[in-house]
Amino acid sequence: MNLTNISVIKDVMSRNGFNFSKSLGQNFIINPDICPKIAEYGNARKGFGILEIGTGVGVLTKELALRADKVVAVEIDKRLIPVLDETLSEFDNIKIINDDVMKCDLHKIISEEFKGLKVAVCANLPYYITSPIIMMLLENNLPIESITVMVQKEAADRLCAEIGTRNSGAITVGVNYYGNAEKLFSVSRGNFMPSPNVDSAVIRINIDHERKLDEIQEKFFFSMVKAGFSQRRKTIANSLSQIGIDKQKVYSSLENMNLSKSSRIEQLDMNQLIDLSVRLGN
Ligand code: SAM
Repeated sequence: MNLTNISVIKDVMSRNGFNFSKSLGQNFIINPDICPKIAEYGNARKGFGILEIGTGVGVLTKELALRADKVVAVEIDKRLIPVLDETLSEFDNIKIINDDVMKCDLHKIISEEFKGLKVAVCANLPYYITSPIIMMLLENNLPIESITVMVQKEAADRLCAEIGTRNSGAITVGVNYYGNAEKLFSVSRGNFMPSPNVDSAVIRINIDHERKLDEIQEKFFFSMVKAGFSQRRKTIANSLSQIGIDKQKVYSSLENMNLSKSSRIEQLDMNQLIDLSVRLGN
């Protein structure tokens, strides 16, 4: 079944009484060149199990299943299950889980479903929940090699920004703490049905499993980063006073790091952010 053909999609949808839900971020890919590229960049190959988030009618799921040993796809919308039974019926290496990915036990799913396989995440993410999904995947310390996802262009720019530049944010620091992100290619809005009001890009986060901090330090690091970036125009001392950190302690830590007392969080690079959090957390 050609799942990028608009009449085929409309036909299978209407036969199953399915219509698009805007609130679930349902914009399905209709350009046949895009999903094979996501699958190939996303480690979908022999020896790999792929976790997909959000199947739609299964256009990417199918390309993943053609290349990887196994695909487990989590889809929140139960109305899509009968659609997928039809569109993916020729595959025996796909498992669909009808659930909210934010509520799933992904450690359990990975250990039960992908025994002996390396694991990667691939998805055309629902845009209303892009950052929470990416942070959840990273913070859970899942045994995955990479996260290859289509996101809104502006989110891609932020995720792949260099730390210490204006485009960076708390999520940029998060991504760089757990690995590194690269922008792979752009996708304009006309490649989806229905067409969204924004353009998109595919990015890949390569995960680095070596931890830079222990668990307690890590927790403090992220609360510092979140508080700092929530008021990024303020000085670090002012923004961190919100989470109860003494201004004098911030000043003396910055001084010991040869940084100005009036530094803003967006001016620090990754090593400086880690150094500051260790000094403040002690
Ligand atoms: N992969 C398909 C494609 O590329 O055409 C669909 C992508 S569409 C942008 C996002 C998909 O994620 C939809 O099928 C939507 O129902 C699903 N979705 C939305 N929120 C979700 C959640 N919290 N957990 C799992 N799936 C979700």
